[in-house]
Order: sequence, then structure tokens, then C-alpha cells
Amino acid sequence: AQNEKDSQFIVSNWAKDRYHQLLQKNEEGQSIGGSYLRQRGLNQTTIATFELGYSLDQWDDLLKAATAAGFEQKYLEKTGLVVRREDDNGQDTGRRYDRFRGRVMFPIHNISGRVIGFGARTLKPNDKTAKYLNSPESEIYHKSDVLYGLYHARQAIRTEELCYLVEGYLDVLSLHQGGIKNVVASSGTSLTDGQIRLIKRYTDNVTVLYDGDAAGIRASLRGIDMLLEGGLNVRVVLFPDGDDPDSYIRKVGDQKFKEHLEQASHDFIQFKTDLVSREAAQDPVKKAEAIREVLQSIAKVPDPIKRQVFLQQTSQTFGIDEQVLITEYNKIARQTA
Ligand code: ATP
Ligand code: MN
Ligand code: MN
Ligand code: MN
Repeated sequence: AQNEKDSQFIVSNWAKDRYHQLLQKNEEGQSIGGSYLRQRGLNQTTIATFELGYSLDQWDDLLKAATAAGFEQKYLEKTGLVVRREDDNGQDTGRRYDRFRGRVMFPIHNISGRVIGFGARTLKPNDKTAKYLNSPESEIYHKSDVLYGLYHARQAIRTEELCYLVEGYLDVLSLHQGGIKNVVASSGTSLTDGQIRLIKRYTDNVTVLYDGDAAGIRASLRGIDMLLEGGLNVRVVLFPDGDDPDSYIRKVGDQKFKEHLEQASHDFIQFKTDLVSREAAQDPVKKAEAIREVLQSIAKVPDPIKRQVFLQQTSQTFGIDEQVLITEYNKIARQTA
């Protein structure tokens, strides 16, 4: 099985090099892929550091090149770089084609820096297929145990004692380029236990920087509870509706962006409080609901001392007697246990 894995690592690394070469040296790669990345504000250093690439807009460019280079089709299929064409009855037609075509390629590295898969963005504004395509699960790529950018962020996460968590590839790249290197992406899916364990190897402190839209806020709320459950200290920064970290740093510049991270950073109690009390206003029923929401998050915190501190803080924030709050907390904690 080790040989199987090694073969998948080798073909993935080869594909990464080819996509990178196509971006840097090929005419289509330069004019289409290169100009797209420039337009997104990424410079050569970032492109080189993250080994970004481009897949030609052809059915089987990679397949042909890989075959010519002596790679077995089996490993191209196992890594999902090449897809089997099936007929209407799901029977293999024997035909094969490239999964990634005419896309900007984002290699996904494991923590040792080996390429295990790819994210790929379409360049067509009205693409009927997905904006992003990813490699499928394989023996070397387990989506739920991967954080995009961790290989390039791990040193900075240790020295800063903080990990910024964003949603997307471009968010990681733009922040890294702007000097914020302790940043990783969950890549769209909701956060997993495996990803949280990964972060915990490097730090106990996470600041969530999700998109400023309804989906991003919902994902932040879910993410906060999972991170709390994992015993991590969580803060949240919200962006204006319609902005994500990438668009916001491009809009305001590196310096203002860093100031925003300082000024708009809330702990999870403040964040939840703000969010619900925005709607709750002076309505006592809604306020009670808001408090219960916060208590539910506190119930996820494994450390009893931290829980105590959070309860005190919640009592002050809402102006509720601490004993009353603790009685209610105990009810909720029993229900969630
Ligand atoms: P861009 O700025 O290039 O439009 P984004 O990262 O802001 O991209 P979002 O729509 O905010 O895009 O999605 C966040 C992340 O979710 C993406 O970076 C990608 O990892 C993942 N994602 C988004 N759309 C899809 C999709 N259709 N299939 C798989 N993953 C996706
Ligand atoms: Mn989004
Ligand atoms: Mn974006
Ligand atoms: Mn986004």
C-alpha cells in the first residue's frame, strides 16, 4: 500500500509541476491563467510560493503528457486527475479525459509539503459547472483532514500563537501576500474534527474570518461551537456584507486590513451577543433566546474554569444576575450532555 501511495504522490507532484510550467511558460497559460491571477492581485512570489498553475482548456492534455512521461493510467485515475468516461448505463467506455480543464490550479499540500490534491477555479464568468472543482478523495487526499495553506502557515501560526481561519483559497493567498501568514482555509465545507485537531497541533487560538454574507455568518456560528468543543480559544472578525477577506484586503490595503483585524475582533460571546441582539433589540423574549444561545456555546467549552469566566462575562454583558444565569446554564448543560 505504501508503493500505491508513493505512486500517487509522485504523479500529483508531477502534475503540479506541469500545471505550474503551463502557467509560467505556455502561451494560453500566460495569457489566460496568468492574466487572471494578476487581475486578482497575486504577484509572482505568491504564485511561486504556492506553486499555482493552469490546466489547458483541452480534453486530454494532462493525460497525453502523463502517458508520454511514462505514468500508469491507474494512478492518474486514483488521484482523480483523469476521469473515466462512462456511458448512460454507467459502463466504462474505455475513454478517459482530464478532470481539470481551463482552470487556475491550486495545489493542496500536506503538512510535509507534498502535493495531495488540487483545487481548481474556472475562469469563465458564466461557467455552468462549479466555480471550484476539487480532487476527489483518494488514498493520499482526505478532504476532512486538510486545511489549505497550513504547510505555508505553520511556522507563523507557532510564532504568532494564532491561526486565522478563512473560507477560500484566494483568502489565504491574499492575506499571505499582505504579510498575514498565519492563515488557513477550510475550503468551503464546514469545519471538521480532523481540521480542528490539525490546528491544535500548532496553537490554541483561532480567529474566524469568514465571508460577510449570510452563509458566512451561519458557517461562523457552526465553526465557533466546534472550535469551542475542541478546547480552542475563539475570536471572530466580521466583514461587510458582500466582502470576504480577499476582497476586503484588496479594497482597503494591508495596513487598514490589519487594523480591522484588531478593531473588529470579538470573542465569541460578544459576537453571538451582537448578532442576536441586533434582532432582539429590547424584546425580552428575544433577549432570553439570545442568552440561551450564548449559554449553549458555553456548554461546549471543555475547561470548567473557562466556562466560569464566560458565564461571569455573559452575566455582565446582559445585566443578568449570575446565579440566575448559572441555574439556566445548568439546565442547558444537562440537556446538551
Ligand atoms: P472567489 O473569490 O474566487 O470567487 P471564494 O473563495 O471567495 O472564491 P466562495 O464562494 O466564498 O469563493 O467559496 C469559498 C470556498 O468554498 C472556495 O474557495 C472553495 O474552496 C469552496 N467552494 C466554493 N464553491 C465551490 C464549489 N462549487 N465546489 C466546491 N468547492 C467550492
Ligand atoms: Mn462565500
Ligand atoms: Mn472571494
Ligand atoms: Mn468568498
